Amino acid sequence: MNLCETIMPQITPEDIQRRLRAVLPPGEARIALHEPHFLGNEKRYVTECIDTGWVSYAGAFVQKFEAALAETCGAPCAVCVSSGTVALQIALQAAGVAAGDEVLVPSLTFVATPNAVSHIGAVPHFVDSDEETLGVSPTALAAHLDRIGEARDGRLYNRQTGRRIAALLPVHVFGHPADMDALNALMNRHGIAVVEDATESVGSRYKDKPCGGLAPLATLSFNGNKIVTTGGGGAIVTQDAEIARWIRHMTTTAKQPHPWRFDHDAIAWNFRMPNLNAALGLAQLERLPDMLDAKRRLHQRYAEAFADLAGARLFTDAAFAHSNYWLCALILERGQEAALEPILEATNAAGLSTRPAWTPMHMLPIYAGHPRADVSTAESLSRRILNLPSSPFLAPA
Ligand SMILES: *Cc1c(COP(=O)(O)O)cnc(C)c1O
Repeated sequence: MNLCETIMPQITPEDIQRRLRAVLPPGEARIALHEPHFLGNEKRYVTECIDTGWVSYAGAFVQKFEAALAETCGAPCAVCVSSGTVALQIALQAAGVAAGDEVLVPSLTFVATPNAVSHIGAVPHFVDSDEETLGVSPTALAAHLDRIGEARDGRLYNRQTGRRIAALLPVHVFGHPADMDALNALMNRHGIAVVEDATESVGSRYKDKPCGGLAPLATLSFNGNKIVTTGGGGAIVTQDAEIARWIRHMTTTAKQPHPWRFDHDAIAWNFRMPNLNAALGLAQLERLPDMLDAKRRLHQRYAEAFADLAGARLFTDAAFAHSNYWLCALILERGQEAALEPILEATNAAGLSTRPAWTPMHMLPIYAGHPRADVSTAESLSRRILNLPSSPFLAPA
């Protein structure tokens, strides 16, 4: 046991609960981690789908939602699909990832990230995270690739497995941007593609540029607990109109355009987003600026409530970042790990939904034995992260 552990008093669940109560609205029996609210045109647009009969794959809301998403991400093209997970699969294939390739993935992410890699027959290769951004650490990754990488014909191979390292999937964890300039420069140097997993970061900005527009390909999710929801859905955002066309074709059964013939030129998917979902999404996206304000307000209130708490810090933007604060996170200091479980138990028992970070992917039995870097920071973070209730309506103006 080191000196810090012996002298640092442990954070108590009672103290955390008291500070949460000071921020959260009184009188609610149960406060969820993240809930959607429909305060704008949601009902009107969805009703329009029902009234006109355009509830399925054809209809104007999909195009409108795609245009609005592209604008939000500062990219020319967006293609809507049925989930963030399939968006990742398609984006990886569009980036040239093939079966048998390795894809660099942070171990500290939601399981959908490596699952998408696995579903196309590629192999997730887990890398470490950075304490300041919670995203992939560029310095740790650079050192890891120097250690295990072997350059051949402008491509990088994993010396230990013989497989090509084809892509990096950086994740903007809880909405906080990863250090994309450093990661893009590193991947450029090694000839590795970058696909941004921006599923948690709609509305976040990195050096004043929107997340979702920081790599040639990016993916979004509109799952029910994300900042903008369509009920369920996702999108691929790309800088390249030709790639957007290929994605649209491959996610709609690769049907050749013809008024009545059914000719298909590839074994493709039906990953389309129904108009009904896009209608909900468009109305949600119209309210994104208000939701971002509300989330900043909530983060500010938590910052004040936790300011003088010894042994933990509220996660706050890195200097280059402007997070959407999708999920607010309290980061316990090293030495406070034993406090996490009692806090989770007490707060959830009291109706305040808090959550730990995900179990790191390399620790899941389904991903045991996969290639990985030293992932000790990801492991340590996963024992010290407490996500706090983060719905935008919890901080009324
Ligand atoms: C939500 C999420 C996904 C997947 O999105 P779905 O729409 O639920 O399939 C992928 N990666 C991360 C990091 C996510 O948080």
